[in-house]
Amino acid sequence: MSLRTTPVRARVSEFLRRRTLSSADNPTLGGGSPPILKDLKVLVNTSSETNALADITRAARVIKKLFKPFFEIREYPTPLGPVICCQPAGQAAPILMVAHYDTVVPVSRAGGYREEGNKVFGAGISDMKAGIAMAAALAKRYKIEGRAIPFGVIIVPDEEIGSPESAPILRTVARSYRLALILEPVFTTGQYVMSRRGLTKYNIEIIGKTVHTGLSYERADAMLAAAQIIVAVSKRHDPQRYFSTNLVIDPLSLVGKINAVEGRVKLSGEIRTGSETDQQGFFSWLREFISTIRIEGVTLQLVVPEKGQSSPVTVGETAQRYERVLQEVMTGQGIAPDCVPAHERGASDLNRLTNVLPAIDGLGAVGFGAHSTTEWIDRLALAERTKLLWELTNRLSIELSSWSS
Ligand SMILES: [Zn+2]
Repeated sequence: MSLRTTPVRARVSEFLRRRTLSSADNPTLGGGSPPILKDLKVLVNTSSETNALADITRAARVIKKLFKPFFEIREYPTPLGPVICCQPAGQAAPILMVAHYDTVVPVSRAGGYREEGNKVFGAGISDMKAGIAMAAALAKRYKIEGRAIPFGVIIVPDEEIGSPESAPILRTVARSYRLALILEPVFTTGQYVMSRRGLTKYNIEIIGKTVHTGLSYERADAMLAAAQIIVAVSKRHDPQRYFSTNLVIDPLSLVGKINAVEGRVKLSGEIRTGSETDQQGFFSWLREFISTIRIEGVTLQLVVPEKGQSSPVTVGETAQRYERVLQEVMTGQGIAPDCVPAHERGASDLNRLTNVLPAIDGLGAVGFGAHSTTEWIDRLALAERTKLLWELTNRLSIELSSWSS
């Protein structure tokens, strides 16, 4: 069975099995923390939950301090916190490293930086404080070797909610680069991401009539229509195309009101697919289904908001050229390249960069439990992945200077 067709869970457990064996006798695990872990500790311990503006602002200051010795820093304020843009002084760089500093879970819930053998735990450590630390480690190394840094870094504050504020800034900055390397985490050393699912949010507004339950003969029951939609949408779930079919009922004003039939119900949902066709197919099915619901006095409306949406990503030809370089670099380091299929991965800033410039994603840490309170990274793999990113950046900066754009 080829790596490409092995189920993802089998690939990951095989990786972890080998990882335990190799980490057991690895001498680097015993001693003090290398500089990258020191930086990572500071980053992880600075809480930066999306939307927590005071924390986000504090985290932005910490990140600027980390990158200041190597870059000219420009800051773009947004209502969700500043976008931090680092460019090598006085020179054009071809590569843009893309990272985000917001996390789903704050330090108060996931805890701070904590090492346990080969595992390092902490809020947002894989997604993606480790990616930020990796970019800083690379810049540091170029400076030590007295070489020009071939990349800029952009770090956004709102990726976890679809980069609604930073996406236009990201796209504008990206236009002056030729290739993006996105530092999202993966599950094994060989994994990387070329395409991702798109995510479309939608609402269904249902208006009926609020009445006393004792007058049920009068009711135009919005909740009954909502129930029909929830059941029908849940049946559309298809793991091969990875539809997300959970719907949230809003408002929950019914709780405790046992003697009333709610007249207005809003359902919020999202659909995640690996292709534009599946996405459009879902909505034409949903429109059709809604039109078949006939409850007297109840009206239904499907609303798809414009902000916070992302289209599925398909891999362009130019990106494939860079992918081949990545595969060569991996093979050269004894790592088997393993491109993650689109339907296995949710949206990221890769989606936001579609049609702007070619990009490779999943170049950050090897980590588990993203968006949970028990998130951790593989410490040994962090060293391997940083080395890989270093080799890749070196190779690409040479290739890019010989390739015409
Ligand atoms: Zn992320």
